[in-house]
Amino acid sequence: MSAYSGHLAPYACDDSRSQGRQYAEDSPNYRNEFQRDRDRIIHSAAFRRLEYKTQVFVNHEGDLFRTRLTHSLEVAQIARSIARELKLHEDLCEAVALSHDLGHTPFGHAGQTALNACMKDYGGFEHNLQSLRVVDKLEQKYAEFPGLNLCYETREGILKHCSVKNARLLGEVAQRFLNNQQPSLEAQCTDLSDETAYNNHDVDDGLRYGLIQLDDMKNIELFRKQYDIVNKKYPGLHHRKLIHEVIRRMINVMVVDLIDTSRSNIEQAKPQSVDDVRKQDKPLMAFSPQMTELKQELKQFLRRNLYQHYRVHRMTLKAENIIKSLFDAFLNDPRLLPPEAYQHCMALENDDSDEGRVRGIADYIAGMTDRFAIIEYERVFNPRQLSIANLIP
Ligand code: MG
Repeated sequence: MSAYSGHLAPYACDDSRSQGRQYAEDSPNYRNEFQRDRDRIIHSAAFRRLEYKTQVFVNHEGDLFRTRLTHSLEVAQIARSIARELKLHEDLCEAVALSHDLGHTPFGHAGQTALNACMKDYGGFEHNLQSLRVVDKLEQKYAEFPGLNLCYETREGILKHCSVKNARLLGEVAQRFLNNQQPSLEAQCTDLSDETAYNNHDVDDGLRYGLIQLDDMKNIELFRKQYDIVNKKYPGLHHRKLIHEVIRRMINVMVVDLIDTSRSNIEQAKPQSVDDVRKQDKPLMAFSPQMTELKQELKQFLRRNLYQHYRVHRMTLKAENIIKSLFDAFLNDPRLLPPEAYQHCMALENDDSDEGRVRGIADYIAGMTDRFAIIEYERVFNPRQLSIANLIP
């Protein structure tokens, strides 16, 4: 039993009965195993880089928009509220929330699409798998193991999706994708918190940036309902306050719906252990059918009006060019890589995988922040950077 075990439901992940780490370690003092995971994530280089990675908008477009870092913090906040209410393990939810986006490329989904296209003959690129790769292999800071050596439960939560082909390569952590099992409730909770966070903050950022308009949002039921409530209660409220009052209520109704629906699913299925949760036909954490429909309407609206907005699309095109140009240049001539990245590629070349050093190039590019990718592009391709000053490190 750990100090935390008494607060947990029988179906929660118990830190004192974790399936363990890849490299055995003594238990920490005064922290539980999942707290240690969370702390290792916060101290990782990949976590610090989230500050300068795009969510939807390119990082330097404005200081007020969400970045991957603030997004991850919002996911953690939502997941922890839900976890506490359902007596799930809050620290595990937090660890998964803070690490779920570590594998994202620069420039958000545009970057991921571009890098995946570049890697199509070399096993592809998927940010979710990359997040696991970051915590399992790429962070290099501990004397006794590669990566962060996180608990099975945290790694299970990071790996949200996985193809059958990749699941066979990944082994135990991906086993559920082969035998159609569910992840822990903490993993499910964090996954749905992710969605709740971005559906709402993208509305906020989109309105702030003028890509979507308040009048259009009023056609979306989830928004309109809360808008009417706020407007009635506070007539003539300042635009910014109005939007915040609506969005905080939208988050709240989604979270309440998620808690109520999941609680009733749990009561029906009566899981007595995490293994019972894993054996269910479908996830027990879920939104109600009505909320699922409302969410669908909002998502569709955001896809059409925000994610495909011409101003976002222009950035997408530039981002794709940067990623593709860098990838091709490094592939054709790996000596263009800085020494650490070059050595990483050469070490993989001697691996038995057929992706070899190409995977190392993807690791290097995926690890870049938006601004680093832009600077690196300038360094490699801009003839004005030919000055002698650039030869001095
Ligand atoms: Mg996310």
